[in-house]
This record gives sequence, structure tokens and C-alpha cells, in this order.
Amino acid sequence: MSNDASRRINRFGLTRLAQRIEEAGGQIVCQARVKKILPKSESVIVESDAGEFEAKYVVTCAGLQSDRVAKLSGQNIASKIIPFRGEFYELKPEVHHLCRNLIYPVPDPNFPFLGVHFTRLIHGGIECGPNAVLAFAREGYRKIDFSLTDTKGRRVGVPADKIAYVEVAADAGGRKVGFGSG
Ligand SMILES: Cc1cc2nc3c(=O)[nH]c(=O)nc-3n(C[C@H](O)[C@H](O)[C@H](O)COP(=O)(O)OP(=O)(O)OC[C@H]3O[C@@H](n4cnc5c(N)ncnc54)[C@H](O)[C@@H]3O)c2cc1C
Repeated sequence: MSNDASRRINRFGLTRLAQRIEEAGGQIVCQARVKKILPKSESVIVESDAGEFEAKYVVTCAGLQSDRVAKLSGQNIASKIIPFRGEFYELKPEVHHLCRNLIYPVPDPNFPFLGVHFTRLIHGGIECGPNAVLAFAREGYRKIDFSLTDTKGRRVGVPADKIAYVEVAADAGGRKVGFGSG
């Protein structure tokens, strides 16, 4: 599926989800950066750029910022997001015969990354990746992206053998073709 196709499907899915939330009496507030989460005895107050909201329970889903947002409630969270960037390689023509279909590994829960997949490209060629390179910014998809806040203490909590595993798995031959695509 092309990126455009997947974006259209995502937009359709999200529109339907939004409809169902509103039908059930819910409200969707966009452009509302959460700044504080204050647990009270019977409820939780969320302070945001779009004002204050009160709810019985709060579930935070903030992607690459999820550890920071979870900490806004004053909890001592042990987990920490460590940014990685995926790079893709193109297989050499002499090994193309080894890959005649999409090869997608079953994720191994013992290792922190999804796994390397092989994709036949529409204009020929076979792409292989991603590897996982320690990155210098959480939302930095280019090699040169850098954030001091995101880089400080980034290796804390990741055993070296887990990082080494993905680097070895990515060394499947070929040359690098891009950064951060998926
Ligand atoms: C280039 C690329 C390609 C990918 N390709 C695929 C793919 O093909 N298939 C696949 O399954 N997955 C893919 N992924 C992974 C997928 O996009 C993520 O796993 C998924 O988006 C994670 O969803 P999420 O809701 O946890 O986080 P996100 O989608 O990142 O959503 C988190 C939201 O929290 C918001 N937020 C952050 N801080 C705050 C705050 N303080 N207050 C309020 N809101 C906040 C952010 O603005 C964001 O909107 C890809 C990712 C990338 C980067």
C-alpha cells in the first residue's frame, strides 16, 4: 500500500472514530497541549493550552512523549523513551532471487524492536530494513536532527546486547537508501 493510500484509510478510520466518540457524548479537543495533570481525591484535573478539563480517570497516549506526559501527574515513572531512527538498505541484484515476496518477521518479545522486513519495490529492487540507530532527537527523522533534551542520558535502561542484536540483523548486505521511512 502506498503512503497516500494508508493516509486516506487512516483519515477515514479516524473520522469514524471521532463520530462514535461524539455519538457517545464525548468531546474531542485538538491543539490542547497538556501541561499538568493533577490527581484529586475523586477526579483528575488536566491543565492544557485549551483550558482545564476534569475527569474521573485519565489515560495518556502521547507517543514519543508518553513518558514525559505520564510524569506530569507527579508519578515516578521508571520507563524512558530512547529515540531510535530506522534506516533502509537496498539488496544487491545478485541476491534478489532470495526474496520473491514480502517477508515480514513475527515480532520477538525478547527484543525491543519489530524486526527487519524485506519489501519488493514497485519499480524493481528490494528494500531491507529498518535497522535501529540511536538518534539525537525523539521526533528527528533526519540524520542531522538534534535535541539536547532528548539526547541527555539516552542509553539509560537499554541493555547493550539488545542494541547489538538489531545492528547485526540489519547487516544483510546492500547499501543504505534512506532514513526514517517506514
Ligand atoms: C516514518 C514512520 C513510519 C511508520 N510506519 C508505520 C507503518 O507502516 N505501520 C505501523 O503500524 N506503524 C508505523 N509507524 C509507527 C506508528 O506511526 C506509531 O507506532 C503510532 O503512531 C504510535 O501511536 P501513538 O498514538 O502511540 O503515538 P502518536 O501517533 O505519536 O500520537 C501521540 C500524540 O500525542 C501528542 N502529544 C505529545 N505530547 C503531548 C502533550 N503534552 N499534550 C497533548 N498531546 C501531546 C502528539 O502531538 C501526538 O499527536 C511509523 C512511524 C513513523 C515515524
